[in-house]
Amino acid sequence: MLLTNHVLSGALIGGAVRRPVPAFLVGVASHFALDAIPHWGDWRDRHQFLQVAVLDGLTGLAVMTAFAATAPPSRRVTLTAAMLGAALPDLDKPTLLWFGVSPFPAVVGRFHSGIQDEALDRYGREAFCAALFAASALLMLRSTTSRRAGSNLPSYDGAHIRPAVSAFIARVTARRSLPA
Ligand SMILES: [Zn+2]
Repeated sequence: MLLTNHVLSGALIGGAVRRPVPAFLVGVASHFALDAIPHWGDWRDRHQFLQVAVLDGLTGLAVMTAFAATAPPSRRVTLTAAMLGAALPDLDKPTLLWFGVSPFPAVVGRFHSGIQDEALDRYGREAFCAALFAASALLMLRSTTSRRAGSNLPSYDGAHIRPAVSAFIARVTARRSLPA
């Protein structure tokens, strides 16, 4: 699948998972899950591959930068970790192109290329995924931002719940300590 789609799905994961390390790991897993579903690819030749890969690589990096820059500060690290995890398995594409080596063990490379389900006539499907991931990630980011901006909706990190939970515990404890 296109790097841009991996980055967008990473942004979605970064909005849903709370901590950076799990977000990174779920991001990596999402990469292989998305590569295993039917997607656009199986390029005619190296020229076509490079045409798509260069544009896609630059778009993916721009999307990653934009999401990281506009994320609420409290979510930025987790969001970036998820996007990096989701993009990581494709790091072998530029390193193979420029240096002729992959940073991953051969077994990972074999697994990664073995799961690909690609066809050249699936551009529409790839574009649909891009639109879906982008819209979902933007909506999630927007709701996160607006909640933090002082609306009375629950805040993303659950901070609003803590005083209520503390008050409830205090009330229950006080009741228990009363003589029967
Ligand atoms: Zn891949």
